[in-house]
Amino acid sequence: MKREHLIAKLARPVTFDVAVIGGGATGLGVALDAAARGFSVVLLESHDFAKGTSSRATKLVHGGVRYLAQGDIGLVREALHERATLLRNAPHLAQPLPFVLPAYRYWELAFYGAGLKIYDALAGRAGLGATEFLTPGETLACLPTARPGSLRGGIKYWDGQFDDARLALALARTAAARGALVVNYCPVTGLRHERGRVAGLTCRDGETGQGYDVSARCVINAAGVWVDELRQADGNAIGRPVKALVAPSQGVHIVVDREFLPGEHALIVPKTADGRVLFAVPWLGKVILGTTDTPRHDLALEPRPFRAEMEFILSESARYLVRGPATADIRSMWVGLRPLVKPQGEDGEETKGLSREHTVLVSRSGLVTVTGGKWTTYRAMAEDVLAKCFEKRLLEPKPGVTANLHLIGADPAPTRRAPLSQPQGLHSYGSEAPSVQALPGAQRDLGGGLTEAMVRFAARCEYARTAEDVLARRSRLLFLDARQAGALAPEVGAILREETGVDPRVQELQELAASYLALPG
Ligand SMILES: Cc1cc2nc3c(=O)[nH]c(=O)nc-3n(C[C@H](O)[C@H](O)[C@H](O)COP(=O)(O)OP(=O)(O)OC[C@H]3O[C@@H](n4cnc5c(N)ncnc54)[C@H](O)[C@@H]3O)c2cc1C
Repeated sequence: MKREHLIAKLARPVTFDVAVIGGGATGLGVALDAAARGFSVVLLESHDFAKGTSSRATKLVHGGVRYLAQGDIGLVREALHERATLLRNAPHLAQPLPFVLPAYRYWELAFYGAGLKIYDALAGRAGLGATEFLTPGETLACLPTARPGSLRGGIKYWDGQFDDARLALALARTAAARGALVVNYCPVTGLRHERGRVAGLTCRDGETGQGYDVSARCVINAAGVWVDELRQADGNAIGRPVKALVAPSQGVHIVVDREFLPGEHALIVPKTADGRVLFAVPWLGKVILGTTDTPRHDLALEPRPFRAEMEFILSESARYLVRGPATADIRSMWVGLRPLVKPQGEDGEETKGLSREHTVLVSRSGLVTVTGGKWTTYRAMAEDVLAKCFEKRLLEPKPGVTANLHLIGADPAPTRRAPLSQPQGLHSYGSEAPSVQALPGAQRDLGGGLTEAMVRFAARCEYARTAEDVLARRSRLLFLDARQAGALAPEVGAILREETGVDPRVQELQELAASYLALPG
């Protein structure tokens, strides 16, 4: 898997069946689905795979208890079904996780208990374990650092958690194994139209600056919160201006040490002071606290938190934990932009309300746009996209196969599986661990669960080009402990440069790491 070979394939005068723009959960899911059905596929990502929203999730594979409270039964049922599918197809990257809801008022036990029993019922055979009522003592055994105060008891239920960026890489690599050409650092610079129909796109190799024309029968815009730019380009080309589809909303996460939440259970606060759900989730040896939901109109690649968001997460956490984290305890703080969808009528006119569901639109020129939804449902979203392509006769129908397709690294019957709450390490590679160990530097520990061999594997097999690619998304150190990620960058960069021969942009990673620790003004 050498980049020169991938780029050379881009230059060939062929017409792909499907060209996908965007290498996040949505685009990668579509690329894998289409490739696995036997279509020829190219996917282009302007930065690294999962550089956008798809590496910044709360890491939950969930039906969404919150949507249940809002009465979105269909949405919850579909997500619960997809939860089971993902846990089955990528068991090294997605696993069941027990949650405990501490109840400080009696009515909470009855109210949330009833809701979570409905959640179990909706999951049916896709359930991960039955919801249980806990005594105050049992609740504290699961959540040893929860405030005992007037604790009346707790409710334990099951959902899943995952490693979002590594799942994105597994999708990219599984799609490639099925024949898809997937290229990172290759922004799409424009769409090509022929007789009013979209017939392909133009892109640029981000490393050399060389431009390419790519022809495709079907072009899928899966650019996350950035879909409107391409929709507008399409609308202008065919003389039909479009209205914005996405209303971005940002979510902040704060990462602290495990001492704030030891044990194997996540904590859920079903209703914070502003009516949101707050999670404290053990993940890869740390604890993730979050998140917020703040409308944001700029579309920064690296949005930063507002001070009020950081203070809100810290103060809400302090209401439920015996020792609330302070700013000095923050190991990393990162922000993702949710692509919430403004529902559109058949004519493309905006209707009221924002949707948590995904939307698939096909323009007059045939440009297919997909956005919204959530990570958990990426596979079902991809099936919907392909169904829409068949309905609009952009592609001839072929059956889908991803429901039972193991992703690369999946080991369906491992002898022992380390939980995702444990620090990352060789186990994160699933069945590929022996291939990592076979590379030079397998015994050379760099810190943070990373070895020299893992950096080499990232460059040779996982499309890594920069120190950030390795430290943010192959390893998750930037998200777990930004200071340590900054400290490891020069060593990681030196190994990468040996492998790729290009500048690993070490200083950029160090600046980014500093910004993940900087307190908002
Ligand atoms: C704070 C937060 C928490 C969340 N938590 C969860 C959770 O716990 N569980 C869950 O299931 N879901 C969760 N989600 C939702 C989930 O993360 C998103 O729905 C999903 O990641 C969106 O993926 P995407 O591929 O549509 O967008 P993105 O991941 O942003 O991908 C779009 C990609 O397109 C690329 N791109 C843009 N323009 C171009 C171009 N011109 N050429 C080439 N590439 C381009 C971008 O670089 C980007 O990588 C969360 C979201 C947020 C914001």
